[in-house]
Amino acid sequence: MEMPKPSPDVLRRKGAVVARLSQVLPQDAIIQDEAETRAYECDALTAYKCAPMIAVLPSTTQQVSDVLRICHEEGVPVVPRGAGTSLAGGALPTADCVILGVARMNDVLEVDYDNRFIRVQTGRTNLSVTGAVEEEDFFYAPDPSSQLACAIAGNIAMNSGGAHCLKYGVTTNNLMGVTMVMMDGTVVEIGGAYLDAGGLDLLGVICGSEGQLGVVTEATLRILRKPEGARPVLMGFDDNEVAGQCVSDIIKSGILPVAIEFMDRLCIQASEKFAQAGYPDCEALLIVEVEGSEAEIDSQLSKIVEIAKRHNPVELRESRSAEESARIWLGRKSAFGAMGQLNDYMCLDGTIPVSSLPFVLRRIGELSKDYGLPVGNVFHAGDGNMHPLILFDANKPGDLEKCEAFGADILTLCVDAGGCLTGEHGVGIEKRDLMTHQYTPQDLEAQMAVKDVFDPGWLLNPAKVFPLAASEPRRMAAE
Ligand SMILES: Cc1cc2nc3c(=O)[nH]c(=O)nc-3n(C[C@H](O)[C@H](O)[C@H](O)COP(=O)(O)OP(=O)(O)OC[C@H]3O[C@@H](n4cnc5c(N)ncnc54)[C@H](O)[C@@H]3O)c2cc1C
Repeated sequence: MEMPKPSPDVLRRKGAVVARLSQVLPQDAIIQDEAETRAYECDALTAYKCAPMIAVLPSTTQQVSDVLRICHEEGVPVVPRGAGTSLAGGALPTADCVILGVARMNDVLEVDYDNRFIRVQTGRTNLSVTGAVEEEDFFYAPDPSSQLACAIAGNIAMNSGGAHCLKYGVTTNNLMGVTMVMMDGTVVEIGGAYLDAGGLDLLGVICGSEGQLGVVTEATLRILRKPEGARPVLMGFDDNEVAGQCVSDIIKSGILPVAIEFMDRLCIQASEKFAQAGYPDCEALLIVEVEGSEAEIDSQLSKIVEIAKRHNPVELRESRSAEESARIWLGRKSAFGAMGQLNDYMCLDGTIPVSSLPFVLRRIGELSKDYGLPVGNVFHAGDGNMHPLILFDANKPGDLEKCEAFGADILTLCVDAGGCLTGEHGVGIEKRDLMTHQYTPQDLEAQMAVKDVFDPGWLLNPAKVFPLAASEPRRMAAE
């Protein structure tokens, strides 16, 4: 993976930059010791590592503004960081950058139940947003599997989703406003505690912009009343494609489950060994959850079971209690950890039209044989968001490269099937060079022109999202 060359000039000026940062931050918020900066050398895409020049941990929007102003004046690249759980290398540093981590910015600033919103500093973890309102029976809907650790900052930057986003939408559908600091230190307010802002949809541009446009320090998030109840049904099938067809038929029927999750044999077996959730021995498993009153749940589940029966399931297990529901979800929630026990893995993220599921699953199986690398599929099937997990051995020469080539083939397959390169993990560095498969040079030019407006010096989060060949000349020209 090619990265831009670190600027020797910036590295030489490290001492001077630290001296200026010390004027606006407490000493314990500046990490400059080489051994300590290693804590920030990668995110959850651990195949790529590079320690930053400096890391800073501000506590307020004002401090973020001061840091960015100084870096802007000094020509120092800045990589914003939430919790570092990105699977796309979105928070990967460059050797001459300042990592700007928002982990200390985790306060709840305002809760308004009448108008159903919460305002938080963006270092707050996803799960603790719900934690702040659940006493009043409210919750924050987007629920990435990493929600215990990941921060709202990263969720906004990646437009994150989760198992329950089929019904409630992803981050962009639950974000009402942000406070954002531009690279020159200017603080801007976009959107707010109301339904829709006038003018251009700048909030829509910022959500999903992967730290390219500014550093988001505060967010106003929609909160929802908890549903009366929710129950899943577990379905086992003898064939991946049949399970894929069943998903397609449920969506086509007009029923809107809150989640439809898919696991294939490799994932079922791994998670069964790890979590013993009592999953059947089969090729594919679906977990379909619906919510509402007991009567609504019964009615929706019976329709879903009827559709499933047309596909000859080998198992149909409807949950009747909170304990049974927890057991059904246990294996799915353990799947990533369980796969990690088998070998190193690369988790991909592409989206396809739901009706293409059977074809795409079959083709991934064929590619797995061609490359000689096993692949497990566990994903949010209801919205076509695939997560193939390719197993490889990081210590075996050539395996990582083979895995990258296999991953690229899967992602271009998603695009060719009418989908796109990312569902919820973003582009980062992982898919940067595949962007040309989805977008024309004119499309990319238009996207980079947006960055020109927000960050004319191209200092924010370098070498991500845009193919290096297209973005490097722009960055060099801006220097
Ligand atoms: C086990 C596991 C399961 C996961 N499951 C899911 C899932 O179900 N759904 C899902 O969507 N994702 C999932 N992810 C991916 C990841 O958790 C999400 O992308 C998450 O939103 C990243 O948040 P973070 O705070 O860790 O961000 P980071 O990794 O720190 O950063 C992610 C991106 O956000 C940018 N950024 C960070 N802070 C700011 C800021 N203040 N302003 C502007 N940009 C900023 C960074 O520069 C980077 O580009 C999973 C990851 C793991 C490891």
